[in-house]
Amino acid sequence: AKLYKIDAWGTPYFSVNSSGNISVRPFGTGSLPHQEIDLMKVLGKAKDDLNLQLPLLVRFPDILKNRLHSLQSAFDLAIQSNAYDSHYQGVYPVKCNQDRYVVEDIVEFGSSFRFGLEVGSKPELLLAMSCLSRGGNPGAFLVCNGYKDEEYVSLALTARTLGLSTVIVLEQEEELDTVIEASRRLGIRPVIGFRARLRTKHSGHFGSTSGEKGKFGLNTGQIISLVEKLKAYGMLDCLHLLHFHIGSQIPTTALLADGVGEAAMIYCELVRLGASMGVIDIGGGLGIDYDGSKSGGSDMSVEYGLKEYASTVVRAVRYACNRKKVQHPIICSESGRALVSHHSILVFEAVSSTASSETAQICSNLANLEALPDDLRSDYRNMVAAVVGGDYDSCGLIYADQLKKRCVEQFKDGAVGLEHLAAVDELCDLASREMGASDPTRAYNVNLSVFTSMPDYWAIGQLFPVIPIHRLNEKPTVKGVLSDLTCDSDGKLNKFIGGKESLPLHEMGPKGSGGYYLGMFLGGAYQEALGGMHNLFGGPSVIRVSQSDGPHCFAVTSAAAGASSADVLRTMQYEPELMYDALRGRVEEYGGDSYAACRQLATAFNNMPYLISIIDDGVEWDLNG
Ligand code: PLP
Repeated sequence: AKLYKIDAWGTPYFSVNSSGNISVRPFGTGSLPHQEIDLMKVLGKAKDDLNLQLPLLVRFPDILKNRLHSLQSAFDLAIQSNAYDSHYQGVYPVKCNQDRYVVEDIVEFGSSFRFGLEVGSKPELLLAMSCLSRGGNPGAFLVCNGYKDEEYVSLALTARTLGLSTVIVLEQEEELDTVIEASRRLGIRPVIGFRARLRTKHSGHFGSTSGEKGKFGLNTGQIISLVEKLKAYGMLDCLHLLHFHIGSQIPTTALLADGVGEAAMIYCELVRLGASMGVIDIGGGLGIDYDGSKSGGSDMSVEYGLKEYASTVVRAVRYACNRKKVQHPIICSESGRALVSHHSILVFEAVSSTASSETAQICSNLANLEALPDDLRSDYRNMVAAVVGGDYDSCGLIYADQLKKRCVEQFKDGAVGLEHLAAVDELCDLASREMGASDPTRAYNVNLSVFTSMPDYWAIGQLFPVIPIHRLNEKPTVKGVLSDLTCDSDGKLNKFIGGKESLPLHEMGPKGSGGYYLGMFLGGAYQEALGGMHNLFGGPSVIRVSQSDGPHCFAVTSAAAGASSADVLRTMQYEPELMYDALRGRVEEYGGDSYAACRQLATAFNNMPYLISIIDDGVEWDLNG
């Protein structure tokens, strides 16, 4: 656990149990020992009982609930201890993870404290309207951000007639005309907010949307003209909410206090100018400590926790409002990453590793080495003598290099055969390892697509904790990097938390001795929505696991296989049924074992695109399963 810093980034949800497996504590610090869930048992259930193929995304709704309650409690506590005169009422930005169960769970778990949703597009608005109408608290906010056309605005206005607390947040000045026009046409009075472009700038990767030249929001001049226009139309009482978003992963409470303080002053000025303000929406940005360092120096970590975040916000708003003698507003936040990152674990398998040449192989190649042309044979003998004599630096490496170069030259010239070249390569590799000159890092091939399941890793260099989920009581003996299934040189993991370029891994057992399983943690936000389909590898299988009183402390409450090859083909406009029919026709035309061929075709369409183990012996790996 120490080696992988699990205590640092995993607390309070993940630890290692006495069997050396990852143990999940669904209620965080509130979990009792008998409520801890062994992740390997969950994996066993998914594979063996439910026949689910890997990769597998395991969702823990109890963690989601715990995060939501922890966020609410942090604000409740800060409000109480700072004698703040209003309340906190958050919204979940659905773009972080639009999965139906995630959104429905958040709406249900947050209903008692009016937790709402934030959306940034029309389909997101539709899903939020539907979820909040079915399970939400009528007082929960539905914050409509993002660029808007008339259809978006009309939909948001219609949502008000369905009893939803919709707020239309203007991202640009022009959107006001659309809102005024649509509200007149539909006869529905809007509740309006706007996004302010703050001067406070977050300098990390996620801060590019902040600052005076940021992509979104109204600057000071535009705010003044917004107020004037609303006044001219007799609609200043519709302006109710001030929104801003400094950027995701706000690194320090100092920056947070600066941004919230600036926005709170704008809020107070809007009150002075006559708007019926009531809510300050501080956007997202509540960060995650991905590497467990609790430092605000990189995008991988933040220096604060939930409590410090909430107390910084409450104090900054209170200070501005007290100073300007303005009533304390409702504080809303749009925390996404902080709510959903912990709730899911992506489990995947290492299927092979780059084999180190075995001594036995070298021995069987001795005949080929002895059959080398004279000059090469003497190079090879000199090199072996140098290695055996421990004379690495002055002779061994030079001979190895020379032997390899000359052998390639003679191969190109037709003087050396392929098996001789192979024997020399293997010998030189072994000798360089012996002399400590070769990179001891091994590549573990994993049954996963980085592009589908960890898009932020290759797109923006975001690091997630990736570790084995079992054998954690055994010392890892290999330094490895992970190479994915795609035919793309970017499809690999060779950077890990803590600035490491390899991961301590365990030697994979021989075939048939059981798999080697790894997990990506803290990836519950953004990865599912951003993931692509490079090489047509689709989404993983998914199960939802809740704590229960049964023998293994958990129950699977839903399970779904990942996208099949037919599913992913459909997304590219292919029609798998027609493809199958045409191929079957061809099978019949060409004769042969048509039953076996058709069965194989059908299975390939129905299975997930990832590698599967052949059920018969459970050890072979084959793309054509
Ligand atoms: N609100 C807005 C407007 C955003 O752009 C974002 C994401 O960048 C969020 C909320 C969610 O941010 P986070 O995931 O950092 O909480």
